[in-house]
Amino acid sequence: MNNLSGQNYIGQTQSSKGTVVFHAENPENKHPLEPLFHEATQEEVDAAIIKAEEAFAVYKNKSGEEKAVFLEAIADEILALGDTLIKRACAESGLPTGRITGERGRTMNQLKLFASVLRDGSWVDARIDKAQPDRQPFPKVDIRSMHRPLGPVGIFGASNFPLAFSVAGGDTASALAAGCTIVVKGHPAHPGTCELIASAITKAITKCDMPDGTLSLLHGTSHDVGLGIVRHPLIQAVGFTGSFKGGKALFDAAQARPQPIPVYAEMGSTNPVFILPEALRQRGSQIASGLAGSVTLGVGQFCTNPGIVVHQDMDQDGTFESELAEEISKIPAATMLTKGIREAFDKGLESLKHEVGVKTKSSGIEDKNGYKGTPCLLQADAQYFYNNKKLEEEVFGPSTLLITVDNKGEMLKVARELDGHLTATIIGESEEIKEYADLINILERKVGRLIINGYPTGVEVCHAMVHGGPFPATTDSKTTSVGTRAITRFSRPICFQNFPKELLPQELQDGNPLNIKRIEN
Ligand code: NAP
Repeated sequence: MNNLSGQNYIGQTQSSKGTVVFHAENPENKHPLEPLFHEATQEEVDAAIIKAEEAFAVYKNKSGEEKAVFLEAIADEILALGDTLIKRACAESGLPTGRITGERGRTMNQLKLFASVLRDGSWVDARIDKAQPDRQPFPKVDIRSMHRPLGPVGIFGASNFPLAFSVAGGDTASALAAGCTIVVKGHPAHPGTCELIASAITKAITKCDMPDGTLSLLHGTSHDVGLGIVRHPLIQAVGFTGSFKGGKALFDAAQARPQPIPVYAEMGSTNPVFILPEALRQRGSQIASGLAGSVTLGVGQFCTNPGIVVHQDMDQDGTFESELAEEISKIPAATMLTKGIREAFDKGLESLKHEVGVKTKSSGIEDKNGYKGTPCLLQADAQYFYNNKKLEEEVFGPSTLLITVDNKGEMLKVARELDGHLTATIIGESEEIKEYADLINILERKVGRLIINGYPTGVEVCHAMVHGGPFPATTDSKTTSVGTRAITRFSRPICFQNFPKELLPQELQDGNPLNIKRIEN
């Protein structure tokens, strides 16, 4: 299926009942891309969710092995889309072929990683306390527990990862692995990519004999479709990656329901980098070049983009500022994902530039052709930063704010003033890092990932990864949206007390038939 229909997928059925239509746009040249896509109606939203509920009754009881084979089949079907997928994703995002091809590999690997988690089976955290009828003074009953899936969940794709955080991205892979069925709100910037991926998943559903309604895709450019999903009483959780405004609106809608539900929103972050004085003295030029690469990677459109750089310049000669400005100004403007993102970048920079106390070190927005963003460096003093929380807000794009501190005390104060972020980075020499142990202690309470002598961009998909952090980086700091721990967002522990052995899930049966890791007695 390589001809796009522009329709929604209500389970395995294509549907276009709505009269509101929209098309994708190539951000490179502003050309509209065919076909027109139909925004889902409320009736279609309801139909998709009812199918997801019906499918859940069957899908949740598929074995780990069956679900693993299904996830691998999705990966195979994505690969089978070949160049059609790559070309469409590039046209809709402006991202280069190499990046999209790499992202396809990451998407497939995420699915396969969750398949391996299902085969291992231990993720369910099975715990068994066997009955002790003779225990004194009271007998002990048989109590066993494990994680079970939540139900149908709503997933919102991100504009900046049209494959790895979209229809078959990390949220979908972890929710399907947990045993949930899914209704995806496709991102309006890449509806064709969404449809191609939905068609691949549809094929995998048929091949693996999974129930109709295991996954639906709904298109929309208005908030009604997304809010309709979140407010529907059958939806039991939400996964989201995008703006603070969008994530918070969906979180608030979910908490206002008669039955509030968890919303796992990853809403971006400024990922502070702290450069310690000895490292700055010994390898300032090298750090400036590495940092410039990280700030401008992917035209700065990563939630791990380093948006704040705090440095202590013992020599106070401004060399590092000049070197960083020089490195950043060498990097040419490049196409951003959408008109809206480019406009938000301009607006964010303009508003910072108008702040008294923020000095521009290299120009930001002179390129007015297409949706290109020009890299930019801004600078402010520590004192000004403490008094202006606005400086901590994410400006999504290739820019960073350099904050100059005079001493260690000021650096620690900047760290203490920070809100929650996804990451924090410390660049320092081995001995001085030990002297800055208190900085690490402060930052540990502020972020989900601490990095020493590296850069925050580049998020490895693995068992140990944490891509999360305290609010406002996310709406739930106790979990992650990247890595295998993400599966527990879509499950909850259920206890089976005094159950006849034949009614217990296999994971909890005597003799450990699945041979998984369990806590017993
Ligand atoms: P977005 O505006 O948050 O949109 C993401 C998804 O959420 C879309 O499907 C959008 O659909 C939906 N949505 C947004 N606001 C909503 C609301 N109030 N109610 C219901 N649904 C809502 O993100 P974006 O389009 O990807 O980019 C815009 C900005 O988000 C960027 O400028 C950047 O600041 C930030 N961003 C952050 C990250 C990150 O990794 N944290 C990634 C990408 C972007 P509709 O608009 O059709 O309703």
